[in-house]
Amino acid sequence: MHPDCIFCKIIRGEAPSTMLYEDEQVVAFKDIAPIAPVHVLIVPRLHIPSAAEVTEENTALIGHLIVVAARVAREQGVAERGYRLVTNVGREGGQQVYHLHWHLLGGRQMRGLG
Ligand code: 5GP
Ligand code: ZN
Repeated sequence: MHPDCIFCKIIRGEAPSTMLYEDEQVVAFKDIAPIAPVHVLIVPRLHIPSAAEVTEENTALIGHLIVVAARVAREQGVAERGYRLVTNVGREGGQQVYHLHWHLLGGRQMRGLG
């Protein structure tokens, strides 16, 4: 829990979101500024700033998060066509929110890695 973190606030229900999935470890909610027809953020409840701070103790959590992402992709109807899972790390990685998350992007053809 991190008092100034928008994702911690969403996870605690202190800020609004369109929540699509919740369990003890992971939540998934719609991105507020979608760049694809399906744009969901898959987020561990634990406040880890980015993938750069993931440790061996977190490996089961991260594995579970990928399982959840695949489930949300099926539920959102993009599993068969395919989708993109991406996590941005740091300034040049384009990270804006320093609470670890994966973007689930789908519903249109993805191009490049720009
Ligand atoms: P990053 O650039 O850190 O990988 O991505 C952060 C994402 O969080 C952006 O796509 C941005 O639109 C989204 N975001 C930022 N603030 C909020 C918020 O308050 N609610 C939701 N649902 N998404 C947010
Ligand atoms: Zn946080």
